[in-house]
Amino acid sequence: MSTTENAIASAEAHSAHNYHPLPVVVATADGAWMTDVEGRRYLDMLAGYSALNFGHGNRRLIDAARAQLERVTLTSRAFHHDRFADFCTRLAELCGMEMVLPMNTGAEAVETAVKTARKWGYRVKGVPDGMAKIIVAADNFHGRTTTVISFSTDPEARADFGPYTPGFEIVPYGDLTAMRAAMTENTVAVLIEPIQGEAGVLVPPPGYLAGVRELTRERGVLFIADEIQSGLGRTGKTFACEHEGVVPDMYLLGKALGGGVVPVSAVVSSAAVLGVYRPGEHGSTFGGNPLACAVALEVIAMLNTGEYQQRAAELGDHLHHELGLLAGGGSVQAVRGRGLWAGVDIEPELGTGREISEKLMERRVLVKDTHGSTIRIAPPLVIGKEDLDWGLEQLREVLRG
Ligand SMILES: *Cc1c(COP(=O)(O)O)cnc(C)c1O
Repeated sequence: MSTTENAIASAEAHSAHNYHPLPVVVATADGAWMTDVEGRRYLDMLAGYSALNFGHGNRRLIDAARAQLERVTLTSRAFHHDRFADFCTRLAELCGMEMVLPMNTGAEAVETAVKTARKWGYRVKGVPDGMAKIIVAADNFHGRTTTVISFSTDPEARADFGPYTPGFEIVPYGDLTAMRAAMTENTVAVLIEPIQGEAGVLVPPPGYLAGVRELTRERGVLFIADEIQSGLGRTGKTFACEHEGVVPDMYLLGKALGGGVVPVSAVVSSAAVLGVYRPGEHGSTFGGNPLACAVALEVIAMLNTGEYQQRAAELGDHLHHELGLLAGGGSVQAVRGRGLWAGVDIEPELGTGREISEKLMERRVLVKDTHGSTIRIAPPLVIGKEDLDWGLEQLREVLRG
């Protein structure tokens, strides 16, 4: 057996089969490229679902992490540490908000948002105890915890994991009329992705986000934007909400916030909302740890230059132009997305998304399928234009058959 086959066989024997990875075993990575255990190089066109927006082994991020590793890595929130205040201040500034509640994973940020919205609903809005409702969208992806999958519409994500957490109303994504109809005095929040990533990079109809903003403001409901995947540069702006000039009441951030180095997530909102917490009511052993704060501070500094957003916008225009040419040609049904982020619906007779991904892997390009015959393309924002073009050429070759 090859080194690759060995590694895969032993992973299959000793790890739960909750993933079906492509048969590549990565050993090292740099920028937009990964090298496997046999020395083969692959172009990373997934970027860890946007956790690697700044590329593999980004110098600034690795240096920030290394320097912090030598100082202090963990204190718990039982004590203050000297990176915490800066992290919260700078992140609030980046978001144009006032307060930050740091966690680790995206799902935890979503859980924190659910708890925050409910508490705000009872303490500030005056919803009767236990009656708070949160409106979410069909085909959402907000993570894998029991409460979060309770409001998923994906049978794979939900089946066999009940009983489910109550308190959620599901409405079609992009449908303001349905959202308005679902709202009652007990609605505390609307929780949506400004672009639905896992659903296939679905961009809502123009005016939708602005409409959600108007409706939620009018009804005294919190607008929670899950920007865990769409935020921090991916779409060509710091936040995908900016494309409609919308500022929500709460941003949920994760993935790229940890620079591909450590898991860092956060809920960012106003003092009126996050101010509802008192000591002991919520927490996390690792949330806001010194290493996480040091890396995230560097991520924030990099985003403050605007260069990554600009790069995503420029390369994104190029990507969508090239994919748009394919969309007319009989092999691609539709292309969606914004910035350096695309969902590509391949003609089903050419293969499932998985099969296309495997063929791309043989040509040394790594992508991930979503449902059916859709693949998503989301390379690190630091990818070179020539590399992006080379990756697109491999896709054209695969589609040529
Ligand atoms: C990835 C993702 C999450 C969950 O993040 P984890 O870190 O995997 O828990 C939540 N919301 C969105 C939009 C995501 O893309």
